Amino acid sequence: MRIPIIAGNWKMNKNKKDTKKFIEDFEALIGDTEVEVVICPPFTSLDSASQMLKNSSVKLGAQNMSWEDHGAFTGEVSPEMLLEQQVEFVIIGHSERRQIFSETDDRINKKVLKALEKELRPILCVGETLEEREGEKAFEVVKNQLVQGLKNISGEDASKVVVAYEPVWAIGTGKTATPEDANEMAAFIRNTIKELYTEEISEEMIIQYGGSVKPGNVEEIMNQTDIDGALVGGASLEAKDFIEIVNF
Ligand code: PGA
Repeated sequence: MRIPIIAGNWKMNKNKKDTKKFIEDFEALIGDTEVEVVICPPFTSLDSASQMLKNSSVKLGAQNMSWEDHGAFTGEVSPEMLLEQQVEFVIIGHSERRQIFSETDDRINKKVLKALEKELRPILCVGETLEEREGEKAFEVVKNQLVQGLKNISGEDASKVVVAYEPVWAIGTGKTATPEDANEMAAFIRNTIKELYTEEISEEMIIQYGGSVKPGNVEEIMNQTDIDGALVGGASLEAKDFIEIVNF
C-alpha cells in the first residue's frame, strides 16, 4: 500500500506574510486526509512555516539545497540549515533548476546522495521537453535522468526517494499530459526502478505526476495505477485550490 504524497511547490512566490495567511487558511480547511501533504515554500518562509506547522500533519519541504555541508558556497543553503527548520522533504532537479540554473545530472545526483545521508526525503524530478517527446525520446531521457540521479544510491535509500514525473511542456502551461500518458511514464519509471533495484523497491516507490495539476484534473490523474501523488505548482498557491487537490 503506497500512501500518496501531494506536494505544493510554491516556487518563488509568497513572502512571510503570504505564507502565514496560506497556512491559516489551509489549516482551517484540512481535516483527516488519506494522503501525505507537503508544502514547499521559499527558503525565507521556512522558519515561519515550521513554527506554524508544529502540531500539524502538513509537512515541510524545500525547493532546493546544496550538496555541501558548509563553507564557501555563496548563495547556497545546506541540508543542516533545512533540518533546523524541520524540513523533511527537498525537491531536487526540478526542470526550472535544470534549465534556468544549468543543473546537471551529476550535481542532482550529489544532492540526492546528500539529502539521503541527512535523512531528508528527496523528490527527484524527471521529465522530457516537448522537443524530446516529439522526437520520441521521452522514455530514453527519463530513464537517463533516473539512472544518473540515482547513481551510487543503495536499495535501502532508494526506497525513500520520491520520483516526480514532470513533463517540461506541461509545467505552468495549462497543458496536462493525458492521464494515460502520465501513467505510462510512471509505469516505465517503476519498471526502471525494478531493473536498477528490486521489484519490492519498485513497488514501494512513490511516483508523483506534476504539470498543470489542478482541482479539475487531479482525480483522473490520481486514479491511475502507477501514480501515487502530485507535485503541484500554480494550483498550490491558494488554500482553496490546494485543499481540493488534497481531498481529490
Ligand atoms: P504547475 O507546476 O503545477 O504550475 O504546472 C508544477 C511544478 O513545476 O512542479
